[in-house]
Amino acid sequence: MGRIFVADNFGTITADAVVVGGGIVGASTAFWLSKAGMKVIVVEMRDALSSLTTAASVECFRTQFTEQDMAQLAIESLGMFENFNEVIGLDDIHIGMTQRGYLFVTDEVKMIPELEDAVKRYHELGVTDAEFITGEKLHKRFPFLASQALAATYNKKDGWLSTHETTYGFAKASLDATFYTKTKVTEIVLDSKGVAAVVTDRGTIQTRMVVNCAGPFAAIIGKMAGLQMPLKTVRRQKCYIKVAADIVPKDAPFMVDLVNHSYWRPEAGGVLCAWVDSDEPESPPSENLPTDWDFAAESIHRVSRLNPFFETIADKIVASDINVSAGQYVYTPDDKPVIGPCTEIEGLHLNCGYWCGVMMSPAAGKRVADIATGKMDNRDNPLRYSRFAEGAVEKGSTFLK
Ligand SMILES: Cc1cc2nc3c(=O)[nH]c(=O)nc-3n(C[C@H](O)[C@H](O)[C@H](O)COP(=O)(O)OP(=O)(O)OC[C@H]3O[C@@H](n4cnc5c(N)ncnc54)[C@H](O)[C@@H]3O)c2cc1C
Repeated sequence: MGRIFVADNFGTITADAVVVGGGIVGASTAFWLSKAGMKVIVVEMRDALSSLTTAASVECFRTQFTEQDMAQLAIESLGMFENFNEVIGLDDIHIGMTQRGYLFVTDEVKMIPELEDAVKRYHELGVTDAEFITGEKLHKRFPFLASQALAATYNKKDGWLSTHETTYGFAKASLDATFYTKTKVTEIVLDSKGVAAVVTDRGTIQTRMVVNCAGPFAAIIGKMAGLQMPLKTVRRQKCYIKVAADIVPKDAPFMVDLVNHSYWRPEAGGVLCAWVDSDEPESPPSENLPTDWDFAAESIHRVSRLNPFFETIADKIVASDINVSAGQYVYTPDDKPVIGPCTEIEGLHLNCGYWCGVMMSPAAGKRVADIATGKMDNRDNPLRYSRFAEGAVEKGSTFLK
């Protein structure tokens, strides 16, 4: 059983692997490494696990990806979410799987072939539940949509879950693993064999393996080991709005407006809604991101276009019903994460570079462990870090990222 501590100074200790970062990605990585027989230490600088980007997310998962490498990871992760208790070996963890689907909608005629092609591609990649829905059928199945909605892609298997419960599920189910919170990594020590130790503000951990799961801080951790990682951090906001239950369409999916990049989904007691601003500038990694005073109004305005019931929400809303929060997406040159060992520095492994780390976390953590233990050859891992140096970089074309 994983042990979660607020650390006292621990002096000098040893581990087979140190995971930097106790978000959902770090917890999954620790679980899989410990399952592979390693003694693992997770170091998290904040008061609790799952409290930075993971807590800022809208907690959704989807399999609708047009890129094979992303689809593969998403499909594998979905299977693990669906069988989470069996996968982690604990019964009393309830991750709140809600499979109501992702619905990507357009009201632009010229986009319709793109959606149709995307669904063909999903099928080729094994996402056989994906549907292309148009016209009357679309409105019959999703009556809350505005009449101008023309076409959509939909997969009923997509949805959302509790990231808190999932992160703690991985942590509690980890075998020989200790999670130190309120403990910050300050240095990575290298010797002639590569990684030799991880220095924290509470002590030093001697180890030959470190996994960088530091979310928006991943480039800083990479730099500690002498690696310049091509990562960009960009603020993303979301708002929770308290709404009377009779206003929110019953059983609605996660709905994305592909034209203005807004989205919403039901949430206990109300809705979550947001939009992805492609002009949002890069911002340095931060634990204290500001939110924009007009983000909720802009989100509601955008979401209302294809979801007119939001106008009713807007009519009734008072400021105290709204909570806006922010986290950071991390983008790599091809908008895909980096997973596995970094060939430049022996012993440095990566599991970072995510704008979609919640939905990929189960399979990504397993991949780190599989490669570290020789079950998988890193050359067969399309998300290896060396793809950038090899020039094997193809910018993804998936919707909404
Ligand atoms: C508004 C918004 C909506 C999103 N919606 C979704 C979604 O629906 N689905 C999805 O899949 N993804 C979504 N994401 C992205 C998702 O939240 C992230 O990709 C995911 O949480 C990354 O998890 P992580 O564990 O890598 O990072 P984090 O949760 O940020 O964890 C990294 C941890 O590393 C710790 N750390 C950093 N530096 C150090 C150090 N020096 N020492 C010790 N600890 C350190 C941090 O404190 C942090 O806790 C969303 C993000 C935002 C902002």
